[in-house]
Amino acid sequence: MNHFELEGGELRCEGVSLTEIAAQVGTPVYVYSTATLTRHYKAFSEAFKGRNVLVAYAVKANSNLSVLRTLARLGAGADTVSEGEIRRALAAGVPPERIVFSGVGKTDAELEYALEVGVQEINVESEPELDRLSQVAAGMGKRAAIAIRVNPDVGAGGHAKIATGKSENKFGVSMSESQRLYAKAMNLPGVRPVAVACHIGSQITDLTPMREAFGKMRDLVLRLRAEGLPVERLDLGGGLGVPYFHQPEPPTPADFGKMVEETLQGLDIDLAFEPGRLIAANAGVLLSRVIHVHERPEGPRFLVVDAAMNDLIRPAMYEAYHDIRPVKPRAGEPLDYDVVGPVCETGDTFARARPLAPLQRDDLVAFMSAGAYGAAMSSEYNSRPLVPEVLVDGDRWAVVRKRPSYEEMLAREPMADWL
Ligand SMILES: *Cc1c(COP(=O)(O)O)cnc(C)c1O
Repeated sequence: MNHFELEGGELRCEGVSLTEIAAQVGTPVYVYSTATLTRHYKAFSEAFKGRNVLVAYAVKANSNLSVLRTLARLGAGADTVSEGEIRRALAAGVPPERIVFSGVGKTDAELEYALEVGVQEINVESEPELDRLSQVAAGMGKRAAIAIRVNPDVGAGGHAKIATGKSENKFGVSMSESQRLYAKAMNLPGVRPVAVACHIGSQITDLTPMREAFGKMRDLVLRLRAEGLPVERLDLGGGLGVPYFHQPEPPTPADFGKMVEETLQGLDIDLAFEPGRLIAANAGVLLSRVIHVHERPEGPRFLVVDAAMNDLIRPAMYEAYHDIRPVKPRAGEPLDYDVVGPVCETGDTFARARPLAPLQRDDLVAFMSAGAYGAAMSSEYNSRPLVPEVLVDGDRWAVVRKRPSYEEMLAREPMADWL
């Protein structure tokens, strides 16, 4: 159940008509369900009852301020990968002591900012970063609580572009280096190691690689402690997959929680997780209008819609599958459509030969499971105004990111003074 349901022949989000939102805000537009965000957050956090757990929502999945505040009010922390994301998390009301700062290339200025606001933990991904952070923090008279991010050399993830846990991926330090770096960090003036972290990929639908990686992390904690090094927390990242249509059914948060406890075998340690997609993906749809249907005598029937790859890049970038649902499905046999956007690239194709109830000009369609890595990755390519976002909560809804006007878009580019 994701709170996007057909009711009276029309697809609705909770108590609100998608037709109504499209009429008032225009299309394309993202629509998010508060009830779904809440349900996913709770299902995940309740999978770890009896543990001291930080659930740091991965801001990059959907960084809208109202989405972040919805989660912050439930007690969520934030996993951030840039100064901009830290600023968003703070603006949404996430307290600094629930913010984790990750990423392979944090600049000195970003590290300084994170230290200034006092984020809970900085996840260090390499030795040069460790040295640099210690220097920056010591220069500010601070000692940063850090985790060493380890690359456990385990392959996982729904697509090569989102696999992060193999030794050839750019993330983290090797298992063998991690012990030396943790010990080294103990003796650096600007850092205080408190945790080890891993995140092996995204859209993982099989617990086996996670079990393998987490088992390696458990062994690492035991080795570090055997050397007398204190390890307070184990950050196991995000990556749990979601049920996209026609995809293998992923494990539930409860299955995941059970696997974690089995793998840790009673290890006494605080835990942190960084789920992104799991919380946001099925809490959002991209609503789009049919511009027209273009049928060639031989060859595909093109459904040309007003959303494009600049609004939702996942199909072009990751060959991602999004279920597409007519908002008011018409009677009649389904027809095969190639669903395409207006952008001048063949990659701007959402689906090929997709059977859909017959569609006509001006009909609305919803791209399902678009709440994560949708609006957050949108751009103005082809000078298409940045796609707006709407948040629904029961019977009420609000525009939570406005569509810029063409005047606003052009005004951002001051003309060089010699032109
Ligand atoms: C992207 C990312 C996440 C979130 O991944 P999901 O698959 O959306 O859960 C968590 N942690 C880190 C370090 C990441 O880079």
